[in-house]
Amino acid sequence: MTPSFSLSPQQAEPRLEVARRTLERLLTVPALAPRYAGHRQPRTLDDLAALPPLMKDDLNTALAHLRPQAEHGATWLFQSGGSTGAPKVGYAPTGFYMTGVHAHWQPLDRSDVFVNAWGAGRMWGAHFLSAALADLSGCQVIAVGSVGRDEYADWLAFFADREVTAIGGTPSVLRMWFAAARAAGLKLPALRKVLWLGEAWQPQLDEDIAEVAPQARRWGMFGSTETWVVGTNTPDCPADTFHPLPEQLVHVGPDELLDFSTLNPDMLNPVLRYQTGDAGQLVACPCGRPGPAMRVLGRRDSVVQVRGLGLHVDDVIARVEREPGVSRAQVVITEQRGRVSAVEILLLTDRGAAVDVERLRRDVLSATFTLSTAFQHDPDSFQLRRVELLVSNDRTGKTANLVLRDGS
Ligand SMILES: [Zn+2]
Repeated sequence: MTPSFSLSPQQAEPRLEVARRTLERLLTVPALAPRYAGHRQPRTLDDLAALPPLMKDDLNTALAHLRPQAEHGATWLFQSGGSTGAPKVGYAPTGFYMTGVHAHWQPLDRSDVFVNAWGAGRMWGAHFLSAALADLSGCQVIAVGSVGRDEYADWLAFFADREVTAIGGTPSVLRMWFAAARAAGLKLPALRKVLWLGEAWQPQLDEDIAEVAPQARRWGMFGSTETWVVGTNTPDCPADTFHPLPEQLVHVGPDELLDFSTLNPDMLNPVLRYQTGDAGQLVACPCGRPGPAMRVLGRRDSVVQVRGLGLHVDDVIARVEREPGVSRAQVVITEQRGRVSAVEILLLTDRGAAVDVERLRRDVLSATFTLSTAFQHDPDSFQLRRVELLVSNDRTGKTANLVLRDGS
């Protein structure tokens, strides 16, 4: 039988003390207490699976009430959720729980020269948690953060000169670095390790890395601002498969929706059956490491309403990215007074690739029921366009599959 928890009852149940304490904290939140009425304190994994799941908004409600504070050192505030408007806040202590990660995952060692290319500041956690990992590894750190488009070449020359052995960032940002290196004809022969976190791996990176740093291999972390790092992988694991940490309990619920309960007693966010919106399965990892690994299948909330019909954004992107010469696609939906006025797909194409954009547009339109129906009377409101850059979040460097624009 396929397991639905990442830990066996023997491994997990002695640690459910932390889950019980989290439930007690949640019961003090007036807006959340009623939903737990009638549920008993989790003594077993079955008890835990019977508790109602938490969503992002629930966690924000809980944190606004609880205002947790770290036992030792500073309590850091990080932005959790929406990238517009007032930040929703998550908390973490100095160290960002990376001791537990480092105990099981050591991509870096003392001999490494590590470029930390995750954006710093703006209340995003990735730069700081990877700095904490570097600290535990005892390596040399070059804290670069995010740089402007015209700065890549100079920095890359510096990296080559310093014989950089490792770099880390979101896959979207890493693509910028490797594409810039390819464009400049620059090699990083000493680079062995590419650390990543924040988005799914992008297969085009394999191609860029093979060109720029043929010795380099990818090392991934999976997590969120609310849960912090949940699992990690190595070059021997598929890019979508991660080994959960023993202090993070992963559960696969209905519709393969994943939820996370932290069993780390120092966790400040009350993460108890918390759903990030990601779907997944527990599988045996081909790397051979025993125990269930988590295969992440992507988000289940990628369906957006277009004129009353559900558009499966990830399916459309996958369809477009199968086209030879297209390396990445992004759906941009423009709304006017609450109604979708246009859908545009932005295309990043390989250099010199001949892509017949109009033919591809007609193919996608006819193959996608939602689009052909929604734009039956104004098919020109659906367009494909080649671009130099996709729309990315300035704060995190992430490039989402879907961008919503208000055109009114
Ligand atoms: Zn593995």
